[in-house]
Amino acid sequence: NRRLVLAERPEGEPTESTLRLETVEVPEPQAGQMLLRTEYLSLDPYMRGRMSDAPSYAPPVGIDEVMVGGTVSQVVSSNLEGFASGDWALSFNGWQDYAVSEGKGVANLGRDPKHPSWALGVMGMPGFTAWAGLKQIGAPKPGETIVVGGATGPVGATVGQIGKILGCRVVGIAGGKVKCDYAVNSLGFDACIDYKADDFVDRLKAATPDGIDVYFENIGGQVLDAVLGQLNTNARVPVCGLISQYNATGLPEGPDRLNWLMGLILRKRITMRGFIIFEDFGHLYPEFAKEMNAWVEAGRIHYREEVIDGLERAPQAFVGLLNGEAFGKRVIRVGNS
Ligand code: NDP
Repeated sequence: NRRLVLAERPEGEPTESTLRLETVEVPEPQAGQMLLRTEYLSLDPYMRGRMSDAPSYAPPVGIDEVMVGGTVSQVVSSNLEGFASGDWALSFNGWQDYAVSEGKGVANLGRDPKHPSWALGVMGMPGFTAWAGLKQIGAPKPGETIVVGGATGPVGATVGQIGKILGCRVVGIAGGKVKCDYAVNSLGFDACIDYKADDFVDRLKAATPDGIDVYFENIGGQVLDAVLGQLNTNARVPVCGLISQYNATGLPEGPDRLNWLMGLILRKRITMRGFIIFEDFGHLYPEFAKEMNAWVEAGRIHYREEVIDGLERAPQAFVGLLNGEAFGKRVIRVGNS
C-alpha cells in the first residue's frame, strides 16, 4: 500500500520534500468495514490550502498524515451492507492505494459506470461548484454577460457552458491561445481572452461591450483587477476561488486599493459572495446530479479530462495544476494492482 504523506508545510510552491512516499501494509477490513482500492485520485486546487496551517474553513492535514483527496475506487472486499466486491465507489481515500472505509460519505457508483472518473469532475464536486455558484449566486438572466477565468478547467468550463444553456453571453479567460481556442470552438464560449497577452485588459474590454453582469471568480490577482473596471451596476460576483494567490507568501506590492474597491461595490451595488460548496449548497446536490446528467447525456456539456498515470507522479502533477499546466480536469490513474 503506497501512500503520500505530508512531510512538511510548504512555503510558497510545494517542493519535492513537501510529500513523502511510503509503503505500508494493506489494511484489513473489520466488521462493518470495506476495503477500497483507489483507481483515480482527483487533484484539486483546495489541496494547497490543506497543506497549510493558515486559518481556513477546514482543518489542515497533519504532518505525517496521508494527504487528503477525492477518489474513485473499487470495492475489494466488503463487510458492509450496500457495497459488494467489484462495485465502484466515489470515496475520499486520499493519496494512497488502499483505504478501509465504514461507508460514511461514500457513494456507490454501481458495477459498470460509463466514465467512473467523471464523478471527480463534471459529475461531482467541481461540476456541482460551477452549477450551484452560478445559479444560486450569479443568478444570470438571458442576455447578460458572464465572465469566468480558468475557462478550460473543470469549474470554469462548466460555468461557461451552463451560461450558454441559460442564454447568456459568455467570455472566458485562460492562459494561452490553445486553451482559448478550445473554449470558443469546443465549449461554445462567445470569446476567450488570454490573460498572459500584453493587451489582455483592452481585449477583455472589447469582448464585453455591454459590461459584465456576473463575474465567476476563480482566479484573483491580475484577472480580478482587469474585470473590476468592467462590472455593471448590480453585478454579482460568486467568489469561488483565488488560485493565483494559493502559493503566495504575502500581499502583492503596489498601492492599497481596498477603499477604491469598497467604493466601487457601494456605487455599483455589487454583490460579492463567497461560498464553500458542500457547506453552503450540499442540500442541492440531487437537483444538480439530475440536471447535469441530462445535459451531459444530451451532449450539451462537454468535459475534458487529463489522466496522468502513477500515484508517484501526483506531487509533480499537483504543482503543475497550480501553475496552469493542466488542460482540463487533472486526475491520477493510481495504477496499483
Ligand atoms: P482549474 O483546473 O481551473 O485550476 C487550474 C487553472 O487555474 C490553471 O489551469 C490555470 O488556468 C488557472 N490559474 C492558475 N494560476 C493562475 C494565475 N496566476 N492566473 C490565472 N489563472 C491561473 O481548477 P478547478 O476548476 O478545479 O477550480 C477552479 C477554482 O475553483 C479554483 O480557484 C478552486 O480553488 C475553486 N473551487 C472552489 C470551490 C468552493 O467550494 N468554493 C470548490 C471547487 C473549486 P490557465 O491554464 O488558463 O492559466
